[in-house]
Amino acid sequence: MGGMMRFFTERNLMYALIAGIVVGVLLGLMVSTGFAGDFMASVARSIIDRIGIFGNLFLSSLKMIVTPLVLFSVTSGVATLGRGGSIGRRFGFVILYFLATSFLAVLIAIFYCNIVGPGRGVDSAELIERLPAEERESAARTQQGIAEKAPKTMAEFADTQIRNVLMNPFKSLAETNLVGVVAFALMLGLALASGGEAARPVIDFFAAMDNALMRIVKVVLWLAPLGVLALASKMLASLGLDVIRPLSAYFLTVIAGLATQQFIVFPAVVWIFARYNPWKLLMGLREVMLFAVSTSSSAATIPVTIREVESKLGVDAGSANFVIPMGATINMNGTALYEAAAAMFIAQLIGLELTLTNQLIVFLTATLAAIGAAGIPQAGLVTMVIIFNALGIPLEWMALIIVVDRPLDHLRTVVNVSGDAVGAVILSHRQGLLRRDVGSHAAAP
Ligand code: ASP
Repeated sequence: MGGMMRFFTERNLMYALIAGIVVGVLLGLMVSTGFAGDFMASVARSIIDRIGIFGNLFLSSLKMIVTPLVLFSVTSGVATLGRGGSIGRRFGFVILYFLATSFLAVLIAIFYCNIVGPGRGVDSAELIERLPAEERESAARTQQGIAEKAPKTMAEFADTQIRNVLMNPFKSLAETNLVGVVAFALMLGLALASGGEAARPVIDFFAAMDNALMRIVKVVLWLAPLGVLALASKMLASLGLDVIRPLSAYFLTVIAGLATQQFIVFPAVVWIFARYNPWKLLMGLREVMLFAVSTSSSAATIPVTIREVESKLGVDAGSANFVIPMGATINMNGTALYEAAAAMFIAQLIGLELTLTNQLIVFLTATLAAIGAAGIPQAGLVTMVIIFNALGIPLEWMALIIVVDRPLDHLRTVVNVSGDAVGAVILSHRQGLLRRDVGSHAAAP
């Protein structure tokens, strides 16, 4: 038993995760690129089909833990922060941070699209012609479905958001409506914080439950290596290179934008506002990025993000529990950037003049659309309808975006969760609670 326990260490988990991702990437690419020959491609295909169940097992166990974790962690985080007073200022600061980084992300998208012009001078009919017919048809069907369920006007959008935020908390819990759970937990935490001595046992109860759930997370994480292998191989196996090629200018513009936010903006922000070593940030976020890229869901990544910002980045538990779940539901820098780039691309493609007013519309609606998107796979597609409608772009054009949405979804989710982690570091620093001795690299003073 002792020897067995010694195997389940943090370090071994990291090795297993790396092995999982490497094997997953290889298997996936064998299928999509056929680089190892036809025989290996078919072997890889049958392995991927068989291990799919582990991806499901891993995702389902993350999903099981996420909703209760958000309730207990946000309530106890807010109650802890609230006892020190001035929670309003901290809340205001976090919202300001979310908005400022989203605006930056959208600006990057607008800037790159203006410079590169991924849709300028492209013959749209010819471009569509070059896409495989079945891809076009399935994208058109998906687009139909989205158009039916997405909000048509701003008022309708606001209406759904209010309904979700102010939902009966028990219904929110049952339906995994995380915005509703976060909103209720914020209020409950505040009320408990101002409840004096009588509320003390309840706050302790929420903190103990949060702790217990994080211990369950620790066990669930051991499903991750196989889960990541299954998800990564499946994602790469379905990477349609024939589909991406005609759209590669747009595809690469989005990737360049995401990389700028991830590797230039975040490191700069964390250095300027918390004097935090950018290298330590990126290294400390390795596992979080891995989870985000393979699950394509900020919500499913919440347990890992909370754990890692505390253990690798030195964020205090109060700030982590406060910022991460809230950020995972409303702060989506990657999605904001993506939605703006997608709208700009189609606008250029169909020759819609991108006047200053139109760019301002993109700027505002993309930020709103990202706030409204849930932290689940492909949620960004649904809220993109708002931008298209605001610009007057026919929704049929979304089909082109849908064709290459999957791979970009995996990547923008990485930026989404990293932004939350950076916010947690800065809040923790502002309160003087950031532990700089945590992690392997020494941080700046
Ligand atoms: N998949 C993204 C997330 O969970 C949301 C999106 O579709 O943009 O963060």
